[in-house]
This record gives sequence, C-alpha cells and structure tokens, in this order.
Amino acid sequence: MLDTASLIKLLAQPQKIVITTHHKPDGDAMGSSLGLYNYLIQQGHHTKVITPTDYPDFLSWLPGNGEVIIYTEQTSEAAELIAGADMIFCLDFNALNRINEMGALVGESSAIKIMIDHHLEPQDFDDYRYWDINACATAQLIYTFITDELNNKKLINKDVATCLYTGIMTDSASFSLPKTTSAVHRIIADLIDEGAVNWQIHEQIYKNSSENRLRFLGICLSERLEVLHEFNTAIIAVPKADLEKYDVITGDTEGIVNYALSIAGVKLAAFIVERNDRVKLSLRSKGEFPANEICKKYFEGGGHRNAAGGVSSGSLEEVVNQFKLILPEYKKLLIQ
Ligand code: 5GP
Ligand code: MN
Repeated sequence: MLDTASLIKLLAQPQKIVITTHHKPDGDAMGSSLGLYNYLIQQGHHTKVITPTDYPDFLSWLPGNGEVIIYTEQTSEAAELIAGADMIFCLDFNALNRINEMGALVGESSAIKIMIDHHLEPQDFDDYRYWDINACATAQLIYTFITDELNNKKLINKDVATCLYTGIMTDSASFSLPKTTSAVHRIIADLIDEGAVNWQIHEQIYKNSSENRLRFLGICLSERLEVLHEFNTAIIAVPKADLEKYDVITGDTEGIVNYALSIAGVKLAAFIVERNDRVKLSLRSKGEFPANEICKKYFEGGGHRNAAGGVSSGSLEEVVNQFKLILPEYKKLLIQ
C-alpha cells in the first residue's frame, strides 16, 4: 500500500490519470468522478473519466461531462487509456465486477490504483485506499480527500463544488438519510460558498423529467405497485413491455422505488424491472433494515443498508415470487 506522502509526491508531477466508476453511474458516481476530474486538471494532469456504461441524461450538464468516455461506445480508446495510465482512481465502487469488462483491464494495468469509496467489504485490488462506510457519498470523501489528505482546499472551484454538491445531494436523498451529519451540512455550506448554485442543481436533477417518464411513473404507481401489509413491504414490478411503451431510457427508473418506500409503515421497498438480459432489483429500506443483506444473499448484489441492488437471471414473475418468499425470514425486523 502506498502512503499519502508518496501519493502527494507523485501528484506533484503531471500524470496520466484515468478516473472510473461503477456500471450505470448515478449522481454520486458522476459527481465524484467529475469533481475529482475538475480538481486534477487544474494541476496539469492528463485526466480522463471513463464510465463502463452510459448514464442518465439528467447528469449530462455536469461540468466536464463533454470529456467523459463511455467504454461501451469508445471501447478501443478507453482500453488504450487504461493500459497507458500511470494512475487509476476507482470511485464509488470497491469490486472490479462493478465495472464489467473494464474490470479485467483495470486489474491487469500496472497503474497505481486508488480506491475512494463508501461501500462495505472492499476487494483487494488497490494500492491506496480512502474508504469510509460512514460517508454519505463518495463525493463527500472526494471533498475530504482534497481538503484533508491533499491539503488543497483552494483548488475547490465552482466546477468541483458543483459536481461534489450533486454527488452528496443524490446519494443522501437530498440530505435526508441517516448519514447526513452536521459535518456533511458544513461541507455543503462550503460547496455553496465556492460557487455551487444549490437551487439550480436541485432543479437540473429533480425537475427535469420527460413527459414520458412522468406517465411511466403513473403506471408504476397505479398498476404495478403491490403492498404486502403483512410484511410492511411494497413492490413495484415492471415488465419490459412498460419500458417499451413509454420509451424508458437510462435514468428514467431512478428514484421510483422511493415512492413505494414513502408509504407510512412500509420498511422495505423493491423496484424490480425486467431488462433485456436479466431482471434488476433496487431495494430501499427505512431504519435498521439491511436491504444490502437480501441483495448479497439472494441477488448477486450488495450496496448500503438502506439502498442496495442486485440482479437475477429468472423471469420477472419468478424473481417477484422469490422476493416474496424471502420476506418471512425477515418478518421480525419488518414488523417491529
Ligand atoms: P440502485 O438501486 O440505485 O441501482 O443502487 C443502490 C445501491 O446499491 C448503490 O449504492 C449501488 O452501488 C448498489 N448496487 C446496485 N446494484 C448493485 C449490484 O448489482 N451489485 C452491487 N454490489 N451493488 C449494487
Ligand atoms: Mn455512492
């Protein structure tokens, strides 16, 4: 493992740097990646953000977005950059299978690998680790990495601040989840002082739906929602035909699970969607209920206690049934 002093020494010279983040990046994945990108380019590093897949349009206004390389669309360019990198920053994930085929390329690369993350149980593929499961977002860790480890608070400019604000806002569900401490609010205040226009960011992310997306949400809530009162659990199960009917694109399904969780008394909510090749699950929970445990144990996934995800190769109906059969195991936690 590299120590911080050696890392600072390396970063004193221009480096070829790749920043990458998890499959289907969300607001924290892109906010932390582009926040770090906008920091590093001020120091003359040759820096590229490479995402394993595409990501929602509502993130495309983030400063630096135009320079992002999407692996599935520019595969050979991305592979060349990874092979030639001096350093690879791995943000908001901690296992190489979270970046799909890119995982093998990053694993093989001789670059110094730096993991900055807040997920449980990191895999050992890194040379330097800045990891804290108590952080509400990886973007929070990018902020403290720059200010406390690199001692470079002065380089948090408007672009960096805008990206980091977005990451913290989205991963903390607009500052509502338990990890949103007073320290997080102090960081947020500082990001606003450095130029993040908070009301504009909320508008770009949350008041930017297409008409189709809103109509799709309508169907999810009226036709696809099932409440299992016995288990304080709500499920929204969406067949592929709905996605096709409403032209659902990447990002349109984001956040819908929270409507199911917003029902009084509901402790666990599942958004289960039939994608092309497999069924994807997004779980959310209130309080102590470990949504990540279900994803890890039964759906090849993981995540945080209150927000987790996974996949299954079964049919939509099979996965919904499997999910319902798991609930009795957790009944005590769900009804207390
Ligand atoms: P979402 O439900 O928004 O896709 O993901 C919620 C949380 O669970 C995120 O923190 C994400 O990193 C994690 N997560 C989602 N899908 C997977 C998965 O397939 N594997 C793992 N390990 N984590 C996932
Ligand atoms: Mn995150």
